Amino acid sequence: MPSDLGGPPVEIHRIGFIFAMRAEGAGLIDRLGLQERGRLDPDLPACWFSGRVEGGPDGRDLEVAIAFAGEDPQHGCDRIGTTPATLTAYLLCREFRPDLLINAGTCGGFQRAGASIGSIFVGGGDFLFHDRRIPLPKFDEFGIGRIPALVDESVRAALGAESGIISTGDSFAPTAEERVFFERERVTCKEMEAASLAGLSRDLGIRFLAVKAVTDLVDHPEPEESAFARNLSRVSQILEDRLIQLLEWIRVRE
Ligand code: SAH
Repeated sequence: MPSDLGGPPVEIHRIGFIFAMRAEGAGLIDRLGLQERGRLDPDLPACWFSGRVEGGPDGRDLEVAIAFAGEDPQHGCDRIGTTPATLTAYLLCREFRPDLLINAGTCGGFQRAGASIGSIFVGGGDFLFHDRRIPLPKFDEFGIGRIPALVDESVRAALGAESGIISTGDSFAPTAEERVFFERERVTCKEMEAASLAGLSRDLGIRFLAVKAVTDLVDHPEPEESAFARNLSRVSQILEDRLIQLLEWIRVRE
């Protein structure tokens, strides 16, 4: 069956998910009954889970894998951010060979873009980096990324999501300069992994989707970190439901 995920037609049988935080993806592993597969590399904490989602009479089977960068042994927290995400995704792509890579997780949203806690966005337009400021010819635009998103209307509708511009950086706390960037580029999701995974997927020739759920609002007086902590578990549940909805749609679509 052809893909209508944007770009040239491709069959989708194998779907790889990358979540930055265990709390964001643990529910989906349980819900799909995936098996633990151990480490993606013996020297790294990155780990993965996989299994088959049965199609039944109305659809095809899908092979699904979920990977995490794992816990940092020195600091005792999830290895969030671009470097661990890219390394983990690379290892997963080589091991599992997905037809579609999905970066699912949480993000900071913007009230000016109509977001509220629990809103779901799919990466559209271009993926940007907001913290790679390199004022040199060519490197300035390389820093910002502008990696095209390939996503079409039917995927957005299947997820019940809005399409929005996702911007990635390795800091949770934004600078004043970054806030200007968010305004100027009409950013709708601020997070810490998607653009680097979009770049990797482009290099490897693998279809890519970013699906992000809003845990906190960047342009709201409540500090992002307290909103994030308060909403993480509830919003991860909403995200999980939408990802199940997306998998169902991929299984049965013509
Ligand atoms: N302080 C948190 C860690 C949050 S890091 C804790 O102790 O658990 C934020 C993670 O969620 C990143 O993986 C990022 O992609 C996403 N995220 C959610 N809201 C974000 C925001 N406002 N800015 C940047 N990343 C955000």
